[in-house]
Amino acid sequence: MRIAVAGFQHETNTFAPVKADFAAFEAAKSYPPLCRGRDMLARLRGKKLPTAGAIATLEAAGVEITPLLWCMATPSAHVTEDAFERISGELLLLLEQAGPIDGLCLELHGAMVAEHVDDGEGELLARIRRKVGARLPITVALDLHANVTPAMVEHADFIDMYRHYPHIDMAETGARAAMGLLRIIETVRKPAKAFRQIDFLIPINGGCTHFAPAKDVYLDLLPEMERAIGGIRGISFASGFPHADFADCGPSVLAYADSQSIADAAADRLAAEVRRREAAFLPEFYPADEAVRRALARANGASRPVVIADTQDNPGGGGSGDTTGLLRALVEAGAKGAVIGAIIDPESARTAHEVGEGNIASFTIGGKRLPGDSPVSATARVCRARSDGWTAVGAMKGGMPVDLGLTALLEIEPQGVYVVLASRVSQTLDSSIFRHLGLVPENLPIIAVKSSVHFRADFTPMAEAIIVAKAPGPVAIDHTELPYRKLRPGVRLMPRTHQSGQ
Ligand SMILES: [Zn+2]
Repeated sequence: MRIAVAGFQHETNTFAPVKADFAAFEAAKSYPPLCRGRDMLARLRGKKLPTAGAIATLEAAGVEITPLLWCMATPSAHVTEDAFERISGELLLLLEQAGPIDGLCLELHGAMVAEHVDDGEGELLARIRRKVGARLPITVALDLHANVTPAMVEHADFIDMYRHYPHIDMAETGARAAMGLLRIIETVRKPAKAFRQIDFLIPINGGCTHFAPAKDVYLDLLPEMERAIGGIRGISFASGFPHADFADCGPSVLAYADSQSIADAAADRLAAEVRRREAAFLPEFYPADEAVRRALARANGASRPVVIADTQDNPGGGGSGDTTGLLRALVEAGAKGAVIGAIIDPESARTAHEVGEGNIASFTIGGKRLPGDSPVSATARVCRARSDGWTAVGAMKGGMPVDLGLTALLEIEPQGVYVVLASRVSQTLDSSIFRHLGLVPENLPIIAVKSSVHFRADFTPMAEAIIVAKAPGPVAIDHTELPYRKLRPGVRLMPRTHQSGQ
């Protein structure tokens, strides 16, 4: 048996300032660069990524794997037409050159918007389907932040999605997609499918599976339905990625089963369970100054750090990672000993290296990429300046190499607020960058991170409290502030908080 494997991941925030060009997919950050063929197998094997899980499952089953290509770019605005066409074109060419195969196992994100194509994955799957024909089994592993579209459901035979946010189960999801493929090939039978879209957008902070309602849906309800319903082959809930202005933006459910009636009943039940919890998906958050006030109050006398999520500038959702609203609030509040990071500012990181460790200089920190934002001008001491990479820690990416170019730790004087600088746009997923620069995160009073939810995988065990701050950035926590133009009629921008009239 020969199975082709490929991956092409991008989560597109159509409101973000910077697009993803071809170079963005070629660069390594906290994941491998664009890779192909045998090099792809070597780079991905054993990693906490969907294709790694698929490879392990297929190898254990004695399948001959035909690796095509794999790439991922940090979430941002649209994938450029050039990048989409080059990558999907090469994928199709490699598929054609692969010769006879028994199936195709894909890793996609499910929320890709290209400059010229709103439904990136739907278009890619349609092109693949035209190339391979109707019969070849195709299965897909998606992020749970997928905005699943009718075209994606039509052209894939089986889709499975992450069940954890933070995404600690990427490899497991890839393994389930591979198992789904093997089952179709062995039974010579494609499952019936049912797809239901949900008519309200879920703020990404409200979809964390550390607490209800997402925890109930993903970690209790989905396994229970799979166990209890005879003939079910897989069931998924996509909480969606709300920062994409196109018709199919939003949550959805998908069910696969031996018969259409079983799939329909399972999808209807799951959709009803999600709709019933609508109000609970609304997260708690505070303006930056209020978040800092609350953090200082909680940190007073505490032996563990209070963690503040600078959620709207999360590079994992399309943020530039350099907005200064929360930094300014920390400095104005005199939050001595607090740290914020990573602020993506290659110019300031370069200055820190030129100034040298132990020396003091003037800096204009961050605030350079988002229209309307401005840098924080400050006198700061360079505590550390490094140019090497390090290894990620925590349940999500632990063990994977990270390289964000030049990094530095500044201490703003006289307030004593620390700033972690990095040179490549990347979400602060864990505490490793702070440790790399000589800090002991457990001993700090306040840690502000450029992340929405993923940081919780590593920080929750050490945190006294976690507070979500609303400071400038394109990853809006309140979707009513975004200028949507293309959503389906009737889609509510935020969960409705009282259920009357439904
Ligand atoms: Zn995600």
